[in-house]
Amino acid sequence: MIDASVPRMTGSATTGSAWKLGACHCGRVRFRVRPTNLLALDCNCSICTKKGFLHLIVEAKNFELLSGTESLQTYTFNTGTAQHHFCRHCGVHPFYVPRSHPDGFDVNLRCLDPADAAAFSIEPFDGRNWEASVEQIRDPEPVRTAPR
Ligand SMILES: [Zn+2]
Repeated sequence: MIDASVPRMTGSATTGSAWKLGACHCGRVRFRVRPTNLLALDCNCSICTKKGFLHLIVEAKNFELLSGTESLQTYTFNTGTAQHHFCRHCGVHPFYVPRSHPDGFDVNLRCLDPADAAAFSIEPFDGRNWEASVEQIRDPEPVRTAPR
């Protein structure tokens, strides 16, 4: 874990430093997220394929649930590490706690404002071979690896 008291570098490539609003379909679950890079992952694993989830992974401090705690339900499977939250009213999965980053949050890019989502580039992630692929995304925020 990065000590939150350490000032973070923000390079010119990290134009996503502003908070973006997101919500489920019915609007009961609302959140905001502060992306530190404009990259989302398209995972081919069993659950992401069926959900159509596009992954925007952030540290916990860059995610805030604004409303809808009482509307969230949680689905778990396999190792039970990932907490797949969804709105029990509309069924949409706006964000979850991913197995790859259990201390962070993984936001569904499709639940952001379309204009905000359009700014992201989308890269494939081979989640069907999760164990072999996960190290590539263990650092979700490349700015952290920039020279300090
Ligand atoms: Zn909903």
